[in-house]
Amino acid sequence: MNDSGIYLHIPFCVKKCSYCAFYSLPKSEKTLLDSYTDALCSEINNDNYIDSSAVCSSVYFGGGTPSLLSDDNIINILESINNRYRLTNDCEITLECNPAQYEFKRFSRLVQNGINRFSMGIQTLNPQLHDYIGRTGKPVSCDLIESYLSIPALCGVDFITGIRDGYPALPDIERVIQYKPDHVSAYLLTLESDTALFKYADTKCLDIFQRKEYLEVSNFLKDNGYDHYEISNFAIKGAYSKHNLKYWNGCDYRGYGAGAHSYFRGERYFHDDDVCLYIDKKGANLRKDNRKPGDILVELVFTGLRTSKGVSEYNYNRITGKKFPEELCKRVQGLSELDCVVDNGWRRIYIKPVNFVDYDTIIYQLLEPFI
Ligand code: SF4
Repeated sequence: MNDSGIYLHIPFCVKKCSYCAFYSLPKSEKTLLDSYTDALCSEINNDNYIDSSAVCSSVYFGGGTPSLLSDDNIINILESINNRYRLTNDCEITLECNPAQYEFKRFSRLVQNGINRFSMGIQTLNPQLHDYIGRTGKPVSCDLIESYLSIPALCGVDFITGIRDGYPALPDIERVIQYKPDHVSAYLLTLESDTALFKYADTKCLDIFQRKEYLEVSNFLKDNGYDHYEISNFAIKGAYSKHNLKYWNGCDYRGYGAGAHSYFRGERYFHDDDVCLYIDKKGANLRKDNRKPGDILVELVFTGLRTSKGVSEYNYNRITGKKFPEELCKRVQGLSELDCVVDNGWRRIYIKPVNFVDYDTIIYQLLEPFI
């Protein structure tokens, strides 16, 4: 039976962070969030693309800052999903959250209404770095982290690493690990050209610092019992993000909301980055992405190699009906950072975890003829 995921894009934040290139607007008025929720529910209720024979094992509220929605908004959206989809009994339902909206009572109520996984954006505990990357409010306190991690649900924390030479993230991660989060994301800062930070970032020795920081953070988390299951993601056993694994493994997911992307039956669809249009049309403006036939191979290898399991020929065959091109396999043999194993007659290519740090170079050398 086909298994899919659902992504809900909530593109609102209290303020735009200086490093952020995602589609999100610095707006949080109740009337706007209510209208947006109505449009989201309407898109779900009227969705003609839902495969009634499929099940859904993950729902993900991402953004933006989904915790800006009221509890009632979140519950209404979940109700629409429950009416239209067959959710598995162990369906993972994640809410990305910002410490500024955290309250133990509130989050307990959300757990009672179906949310069973939270992902909190801590980013940094260092006040200087907090200001440098333009985060709103103050850095998170350890009391708040302790309270958050006592919620009866899977709870993860997100950090940004490699922000600025001389300002390591490792001490923050060491502090937070004491409270035993189930999942840790540690994303190396990427300086995107259309962000405020790009204009004033201190890039002196940044490459060397980022490489060192990446290796130190990865080794520390592995030594503390976390599986390094994706380039930037670490989890204790059983706490891998089911939803994000769907993106990395080329599984189907349906994205709702302005700027959201979907992938199902081998095709990609998207909504324009336009909240007003989305509200006006009540979500009825989904568009198909026109892709070249070779794009599927590039996408699958690009995302699959981010994971410790790598990219499988079985998956590629499931979507395209083909085996891996021989040119790809030849290139794998020529790259010592890669390995290829055969499972049930299907090849599986993966980056040896110690070489994750060189992902960008490896992927370019591997995919050059296919891009
Ligand atoms: S909270 Fe997240 S989505 Fe919002 S501006 Fe900051 S980085 Fe971007």
